[in-house]
Amino acid sequence: MMTVQEFAAKIRESDEIVVFTGAGISTESGIPDFRSPGGLWTRYKPVTFQDYLSSEAARVEAWKRRLETHEAHKNAKPNIGHYFIQSLDQKGKLIGLITQNVDGLHSEAGLADDKIVELHGTNRRIICLKCNKSFDPDEVIRRLVGDFSSPKCDACAGILKAATISFGQAMPPEAMRQAQEWTEGAAVFMVMGSSLQVQPAASFPVLAKRNGALLAIINREPTPLDEYSDFVHHGAIGEFCGRFGEMIADG
Ligand code: NAD
Repeated sequence: MMTVQEFAAKIRESDEIVVFTGAGISTESGIPDFRSPGGLWTRYKPVTFQDYLSSEAARVEAWKRRLETHEAHKNAKPNIGHYFIQSLDQKGKLIGLITQNVDGLHSEAGLADDKIVELHGTNRRIICLKCNKSFDPDEVIRRLVGDFSSPKCDACAGILKAATISFGQAMPPEAMRQAQEWTEGAAVFMVMGSSLQVQPAASFPVLAKRNGALLAIINREPTPLDEYSDFVHHGAIGEFCGRFGEMIADG
């Protein structure tokens, strides 16, 4: 296992870095993750894609949950972790960022769209499942008052859904292809804030390592891939990036 100084030296000399983020990078922006104690997982069973398609009750339940969190998530701001990744790109070191998050905070931190793959889609858009028309979440959510029924497309009456990938829904092929290409080209693959328990996303660090990348994991809790990694830090991302950002500042 490398020391943090050795890892910093690798980051300073590499211009082929891929970063992979999960919900843990956004908890310090006030968006809860799924699997930490008290996380969303412990309170809510996910609505699967099949349930969403077939059951009005499931759709209403999904929108009720969205209503509870919409304002807080909309107002969330990127934190030092998101800016750290953006700074790697500014230094010409980043091949790309692969994220499991749907909160849009990497874009808001200034990272260019062509450097971001959102494996699980985005919450910042609502789409019609029939005609693909795209809607601003605020407009759709504003209409959900009282005993509402699930929103429908104003063009074709199709079912509307957040542009996220739900359990049971196929992974987006172009995002998967791009993520795989970046991963295979990585000299350093850095995981930040993911429990690495969700497939197929968690397979990317394994692919990177098999292709000879240095694998680093920054996460508060242990992950199943810690033993397989070259550098592991168990702690808060904000605190780590503060110190680590200074260590690589000359790179
Ligand atoms: P996860 O909830 O399974 O795991 C998050 C990990 O981050 C945990 O292991 C936790 O220990 C760690 N963590 C939390 N806060 C941290 C911090 N400040 N510093 C360091 N580590 C921290 O998340 P996941 O692996 O990303 O998978 C959850 C799924 O849920 C994803 O597929 C994602 O699509 C979705 N999700 C997204 C968001 C979001 O967009 N912000 C939020 C919740 C869930």
